[in-house]
Amino acid sequence: MNWRHLPARWRKTDMERGSDVLIVGGGIQGMSAALQLARRGIGVCVLEKDYVGRHASGVNAGGVRTLGRHLSELPLSIKAKSLWLTAQDWLDDDCGFRPVGQIRVAETQAAFAQLQTRSSLVSSLGLEYREHVIDASELYDRLPALTPHCVGGLFVADDGYANPYRTVLAMKHAAVRAGAVVEERSAVAHLGYKDGGWSAKLQDGRTFRADVLLNCAGAWGQRIAAMLGDEVALKPNGSMLMITARLPPMVGPVVGAAGRSLSFKQFPNGTVLIGGGHRAPVDLDTNQANVLLPGIAKAAETAITLFPFMASAHAVRFWSGIEGFMDDGLPVIGPSLGSPKAFHAFGFSAHGFQLAPAVGEVMADLVSQVEPATPIEAFSVGRQPRSPSA
Ligand SMILES: Cc1cc2nc3c(=O)[nH]c(=O)nc-3n(C[C@H](O)[C@H](O)[C@H](O)COP(=O)(O)OP(=O)(O)OC[C@H]3O[C@@H](n4cnc5c(N)ncnc54)[C@H](O)[C@@H]3O)c2cc1C
Repeated sequence: MNWRHLPARWRKTDMERGSDVLIVGGGIQGMSAALQLARRGIGVCVLEKDYVGRHASGVNAGGVRTLGRHLSELPLSIKAKSLWLTAQDWLDDDCGFRPVGQIRVAETQAAFAQLQTRSSLVSSLGLEYREHVIDASELYDRLPALTPHCVGGLFVADDGYANPYRTVLAMKHAAVRAGAVVEERSAVAHLGYKDGGWSAKLQDGRTFRADVLLNCAGAWGQRIAAMLGDEVALKPNGSMLMITARLPPMVGPVVGAAGRSLSFKQFPNGTVLIGGGHRAPVDLDTNQANVLLPGIAKAAETAITLFPFMASAHAVRFWSGIEGFMDDGLPVIGPSLGSPKAFHAFGFSAHGFQLAPAVGEVMADLVSQVEPATPIEAFSVGRQPRSPSA
C-alpha cells in the first residue's frame, strides 16, 4: 500500500477504527503534527491517555526562546519563531505570544566573556539570526530593577512567552477543524505492525489501525519507543515552577542568568513566574509530579539575588510538570530504527514548547516523504551521546 498517496479519510467500524496516521500523545508535539498532517489532507487520529495538554504542554512556563539554544536546535528553533510571530495567521489565535525579548544576564566578567563568545559563534553560522551582546548601560536600561552587580548580557528582541494551555488547545481545535480525530482517555497499551500497517491496542480493549505511527508520548516516549524496537535512555523528571501574587510592573523581558538556573518573567497583570531547571521525581504510572522545597527555595533565592524587590513577593502557587530528559538535552525527532513507517518526536528536555510549531511541520514532512526544511540528523534515535546543550 502506498501510504504517501492515501486520501484524507476516517473510517469507523464497530470494532476497529482506521486512519492514515496514528499519533500516540496529545501534547503540543502531537497536536502540532496532527494539525499539519490534517491540513495536508492526511487522515490522522490522536490517541491521548489523559486529556490534551494535561502534562508538560499545558503546565509549562511558556518561554518562547531561541536565545542560548544548542546549535543543533537553532535552525528548528528559528523556524519555530517565525511561526510564533505569525500564529494569528496560520492558527487563528496568537496564543498569548508576547515578543517582549529574552535576556541572559552576566554577573561576572568571565560570564560576560562566555556570552560574547556565544554571540560570535552564532553570528558565524551564516543564519539570519543574531544574539546581541548588550553592555551594562543597555542592560540596566532594559532591566532597571536588576541587582547592581551585573556587567552585561545577551539579548534577543523577538523572543518572549506565550500561554501554554491556550496554545495546545488552539492547535487541537484547528486540527479537528481540519479533519483530525482526537481520542482522549485512550491509553495505548500495545503496538503491532503487520501486513504493512500498525495496530494500537488500547487499555480499554479498543483497537485503532493506521498505515503510519507517530510517537509523541513526551516523558512516556521511551515506553512507546521500546514497543517499536528502539532503546532510548530517557529520564522522566518534574520541572518545577512557582508564581507570585501581583506586584507593580518591574520587569519587561524574560530573564535568565549565565551560570545559574533561572527563568524569570513578569506578566502584564503583575504576577511573576519563576522556574529554571530545578527538578523533582515523578511517577509515570500515576501521573504524580512532585514539588521539592529545596529546589523551589533555590529558585526563589536566585530570583531575589537578581531582583531584590522580589524579597517581599508572595508566592501563591507551586507546581511541577512531567517531562522527559535526554542526557544531551536534545529531543528525539525522526524515523524509528526498529520499525517501518514509524517516527518519533519526544524527549524535549524542558524546552520543547517553543519548538512545537516547527516540529509539527517536520513530522508532516517525514510522513509525506518530503525532506524537512531544517536538519534533524542530530535528533536521531540512534545518535551517540554528546555534550549537554548550552
Ligand atoms: C514546568 C515546565 C516548564 C517548562 N517550560 C518551558 C518553557 O518555558 N519553554 C519551552 O520551550 N519548554 C518548556 N518546557 C518543556 C515543554 O513543556 C515540553 O518540552 C513540551 O510540552 C513537550 O511536549 P510533548 O507533546 O512532547 O509532551 P507532553 O505534553 O507530555 O505530551 C505527551 C502526551 O502523551 C501522552 N501519552 C503518553 N503515553 C501514552 C500512551 N501510552 N497512550 C496515549 N497517550 C500517551 C501523555 O498523556 C501526554 O499528554 C517546560 C516543561 C515543564 C514541565
